[in-house]
Amino acid sequence: MPEWETVIGLEIHVALLTKSKLFCGCSTEYGALPNTQTCPVCLGHPGGLPVLNEQAVEYSIKAGLALNCKINFNSKFDRKQYFYPDMAKNYQISQDDQPLCSQGHVDLEVEGKKKRIRIARAHLEEDAGKLTHEGDLVGAPSSLVDFNRCGVPLLEIVTEPDISSPAEARLFLNKLWNIIRYTGVSDCKMEEGSMRCDANISLRPQGSSELGTKTELKNLNSFRAVERGLAYEAQRQAQILAAGERVLQETRLWDVEAGVTRGMRTKEGAHDYRYFPEPNLPPLKLDASWIERVRQTMPELPDAREERFICELGLSSYDAGVLVAAREVANYFEEVLQHSAEAKAAANWVMGELLGRLRKDNLEIADCPVSPRHLAKLLALQEKGRISSKMAKGVFEEMFNTGKDPEDIVKEKGLAQITDVDALEAVVEKVLSAHPQSVEDYKGGKDRAFGFLVGQVMKETRGRANPQLVTKLLRERL
Ligand code: ADP
Ligand code: MG
Ligand code: ZN
Repeated sequence: MPEWETVIGLEIHVALLTKSKLFCGCSTEYGALPNTQTCPVCLGHPGGLPVLNEQAVEYSIKAGLALNCKINFNSKFDRKQYFYPDMAKNYQISQDDQPLCSQGHVDLEVEGKKKRIRIARAHLEEDAGKLTHEGDLVGAPSSLVDFNRCGVPLLEIVTEPDISSPAEARLFLNKLWNIIRYTGVSDCKMEEGSMRCDANISLRPQGSSELGTKTELKNLNSFRAVERGLAYEAQRQAQILAAGERVLQETRLWDVEAGVTRGMRTKEGAHDYRYFPEPNLPPLKLDASWIERVRQTMPELPDAREERFICELGLSSYDAGVLVAAREVANYFEEVLQHSAEAKAAANWVMGELLGRLRKDNLEIADCPVSPRHLAKLLALQEKGRISSKMAKGVFEEMFNTGKDPEDIVKEKGLAQITDVDALEAVVEKVLSAHPQSVEDYKGGKDRAFGFLVGQVMKETRGRANPQLVTKLLRERL
């Protein structure tokens, strides 16, 4: 689409990992029986009064700081009015014109260049309940409602329309996911709904500074869905514009099976939510010392960690990027180093063998049967030449299947390399007398014959001979 430029802005909700809900003491635990975690406040009974959860505020400040936002000393809560059967109050308590966090940014690397995506705002709000459409229960289409999720704290993060392609949107989401997970304020599981993304997209003539008419995509349940949904929508809008028609401003649903977006509702006026200040909550006032206290609890974030891996550990920027891309992987890697493994070798093992093996069994690194200490031991065995790199891979497989210590595996299986000169000399002797023709060939200048003889010694020792030593002994004898 050479004549069109794609413009994307994302609205991301992350559920905060507080133990209780945003405005009442009900548990936020995921997966409980429907409607067992409710009270008059989150069910919207008349007279229920909200009380703000302090931990939710601290988590939001933490996320805001991680996204380079301004944390506003003065913010407030507002009622956003609309009717939906999973929201008993018929309004949601959110933040409208005075959000807790604003004006942040996330830097991406796009085709080797730095690209800054500005964060317009991040505000606190309560989640709604959950509807399950069950089909025909009472002789008519019917739905079930579960209010457990009603009142769970959400941080809504809104970007400026700075994203230029569906692939870039996915890159951004991935980075955001990683940053928030580093802060520990949310587990950001798209499949459980603790991270949700609505994507706004419009096209405009290449080089124009005005925004085109946007559509908003919902029902995007994975990073892949975000990218595919946006790609479909960009194409659809391009066709409309190319035909000289106008894009309708509307909310559209991504149908993952059909691979298309479908119109859900048109948005005429901008806001018809009749926001007004929540009368039962005082304005939220913070001071610098509170924000500072939260700042003290901030862990090292992915960008800083990547920088450190490059500068202090001497890793390539590619390796550092892969390792920090998930906090647990970087933690695992650093634990291997604490058991005195060499950085480059450890990085190679973690990125190659370890992640590959986990992927094969569809396991998370948290469930990895090989402990960082054992992996460090394996690296040491290889480094000291007690096992070859080929053997190390076999031992690793055994470690993965049994969780055993690599030293025990090497002992049990008699895998240790033969580095004993006398023992190897005997084998070399035997091989030479068994293959006089090869000896002739080698002496006659055929280098290939040497490789054959090395191979025979390795075969005799079932691969356990130290190759450098075999080469040395053979050369001496020949
Ligand atoms: P609305 O009032 O429809 O909710 P907002 O101005 O609050 O719109 O923006 C919501 C999201 O949509 C933001 O992420 C913003 O960057 C993005 N956005 C706004 N206008 C456009 C546009 N014309 N094209 C693409 N994205 C847009
Ligand atoms: Mg909006
Ligand atoms: Zn409650």
